[in-house]
Amino acid sequence: MKDAAPETIFLKDYAEPHHWVREVHLTFRLAPTETRVLSRITFVPNAQNAGDLVLNGEDLKLITATVDGAIVPMDVSDTHLRIKSADLPTKPFTFEAEVEISPETNTALEGLYMSNGMYCTQCEAEGFRKITYYPDRPDVMATFTVRIESDQPVMLSNGNPTASGEGWAEWHDPWPKPSYLFALVAGDLVNHPDRFTTKSGRDVELNIYVRPGDEDKCAFGMEALKSSMKWDEDTYGREYDLDIFNIVAVDDFNMGAMENKGLNIFNSSCVLASKETSTDANFERIEGIIAHEYFHNWTGNRITCRDWFQLCLKEGLTVYRDQMFSGDMRSHPVKRIEEVLQLRARQFREDNGPLAHPVRPESFVEINNFYTATVYEKGAEIIGMLRRILGDEDYYKGCNLYFDRHDGQAVTIEDWLKAFEDATGRDLSHFQQWYSQAGTPRLKVSEAWEDGTLTLTFTQTTPPTPGQPDKKPQLIPIAVGLIGPNGDEVVPTTILTLSEETQSFTFDGLGARPVASILRDFSAPVILEREIDAATRAFLLANDTDPFQKWEMGRMLAKDTLIDMITRDATPATDYLDAIKAVLTDESLDPAFRALVLGLPSEDDIAQTLFDAGQTPHPQKIHAARQTLRQTLAIHLSDACPTLFRQLETPTFVPDADGSGKRSLRMAVLGLMTLNDGGEAARALYAKADNMTEQLGSLSALLAAGLGAEEIQAFEKQWKNDRLVMDKWYTMQVVHAAPDSTATTVETLTQHPDFTLRNPNRFRAVFGALTANHAGFHHASGAGYETLANHLIKLDKLNPQTTARMCGSFETWRRYDADRQALIRAQLERILATEDLSRDTTEMVNRILGD
Ligand SMILES: [Zn+2]
Repeated sequence: MKDAAPETIFLKDYAEPHHWVREVHLTFRLAPTETRVLSRITFVPNAQNAGDLVLNGEDLKLITATVDGAIVPMDVSDTHLRIKSADLPTKPFTFEAEVEISPETNTALEGLYMSNGMYCTQCEAEGFRKITYYPDRPDVMATFTVRIESDQPVMLSNGNPTASGEGWAEWHDPWPKPSYLFALVAGDLVNHPDRFTTKSGRDVELNIYVRPGDEDKCAFGMEALKSSMKWDEDTYGREYDLDIFNIVAVDDFNMGAMENKGLNIFNSSCVLASKETSTDANFERIEGIIAHEYFHNWTGNRITCRDWFQLCLKEGLTVYRDQMFSGDMRSHPVKRIEEVLQLRARQFREDNGPLAHPVRPESFVEINNFYTATVYEKGAEIIGMLRRILGDEDYYKGCNLYFDRHDGQAVTIEDWLKAFEDATGRDLSHFQQWYSQAGTPRLKVSEAWEDGTLTLTFTQTTPPTPGQPDKKPQLIPIAVGLIGPNGDEVVPTTILTLSEETQSFTFDGLGARPVASILRDFSAPVILEREIDAATRAFLLANDTDPFQKWEMGRMLAKDTLIDMITRDATPATDYLDAIKAVLTDESLDPAFRALVLGLPSEDDIAQTLFDAGQTPHPQKIHAARQTLRQTLAIHLSDACPTLFRQLETPTFVPDADGSGKRSLRMAVLGLMTLNDGGEAARALYAKADNMTEQLGSLSALLAAGLGAEEIQAFEKQWKNDRLVMDKWYTMQVVHAAPDSTATTVETLTQHPDFTLRNPNRFRAVFGALTANHAGFHHASGAGYETLANHLIKLDKLNPQTTARMCGSFETWRRYDADRQALIRAQLERILATEDLSRDTTEMVNRILGD
């Protein structure tokens, strides 16, 4: 039987399961199209909520099922197996089943599937139900024992290995876990081994498993893993708890990586690293993701989510932890600016459109659609605000109580905050609203000066979002410092806590009128609206002690310059150009920071800024203005750039903060030089580069200047057998395509023999790049929209999860003029009209259309 239309699931409807699980035994007899899965599960009736046994199961062929060895009546649908309570024992019982599944034809990459001949799994959020019948919900935690039978040389699962022989291996995970953390891998793999001794003396075997040929790309990931293990002991007092920790690299993977207990599975792009094939940005990302997945061992695995509405409980906290880790490994100011760039580009954009939702959503149709920037990144910002409000000591006190109190449990946001209230005696009821109210607060500030007293008055409003027309004031920590007229800091960073709609704060006993530096370190995820002239911005850019505000002032100057160029045909302001030059040549500043100041706002960012100011963004005009400003900068900085380019050379490649910072500034400078020198310097660097950062940096500089035709061919010839590097080859061409030819470039690349819809990395390499090319994607012809829709319709048949996520590229459609809106609507409606469209994509498109 087929279930009716997909139902909406509500947070308010949460109820405990009718049965808990004590123990799970699984046997896998692996075969590409007919894998047998035998399960033996001990169920315990839940006295608090008695009822039928309800098991999830999708795409399973049921062979047999028994209760305590006997056949009982059961209803089996496309999605569930149900046994009436009257047909069940009232005491604990054993459910046994045998099912058949087909990993080879599983292109959705959820459950057990095959990637290049190896078996692997992805169970979060609801993939385990594609492996066997089970209460596939995070509040059901159990110990797992797994036997794998296969002719594959390496067979892995969660926990510790217990026994193995020719053609089989057994694993036991002593820590109770929900089914979404189950993992199995079997394949022809080689390992890069190491060891780590925990603080209490436990000796842990570490392995990174990869396909033969990739062994030389594991060393960096292994070092990152060991640093993460040490950091979590030192910073949060959390130790690893098994005898073995395995990481496996998989080519075909929907996400970045997955924190399965003791067996993390990684998209190969997020773990394999070598200087020849990975850029500095890749190294940094790999370090961050390895840390993230490792940190989940405590924030997610030992303490998990009661239901999927609490996803931010594990993700927001773990993102915050990996951000702190990366800051400690590299540079906090640089990391903070990168986080804010990302937050504004993805989360603010989401908050501002039809997909806006609270960090803890109230309802969903398909949970896969809620692995969003809001849940992850705004979720992390909330943890950062909590720490700012409480201070470091109370923050760690609360964390410790949370770990002690809830170890081994599946909990909620309320439990998380209660630990902080109980540990510190603070009332966090107002703060909790950050989890339930969607939308980015706008903060207006006005200043008054009288008799040595500066008064700052803040007013907050949050615009309506879907389903939430009326907003309440949030509790907002605002970090403020004051800079005297001579450039000295007269008041160091102070946290003002705004709780009302309008509130004033005073600073008295001041001599001369200072300049306020507001929202230091981006202390809250808000949009600050402040009337401030270019001269004051330039003053803060030159004098602020807070690196984030210093960068922010440069960014605002750049934005104002661009907006003036677009809306008033102005020429680029010289005060902006001079201020940038001063920063660029200030050797007391970190090169990575200077590179960030030199970077211009993205075209998408300018479009959003214009839209927020009540104007209709014109993609071609934005593109032209940004190109002109880059050209103007290139001329204005033409004497400084070649000198810097020489000075910043790094003789040996080390992917640390120092080396990568120098290279990022050097590549930014090269990009400008290439607009002036006909590509001479970039070609010379391309010819001799011995690392991917410089090879790709010089190629990118050439392509951005409309050059590089020979180099892009040479690049393909050199790297055609390296799938991860080839993803960059696809991306480069689309990102740098001229607006008029972007859609054609995409179509040509999809005809390339190595293009495949079955590999999400390859799909994103082309289509993620298409949507990142703002003027090409939003070309007036509508060709960009049509190309994307054509391929999304094809991809949905294979991989609904990646399709739905890519549909999000249309979320900004209401920003644009009526013609473009009509073009996009037509494509969205065409997607929606596709026969047998997945639940994932249907929900996303309906939300984007919003009608
Ligand atoms: Zn995560």
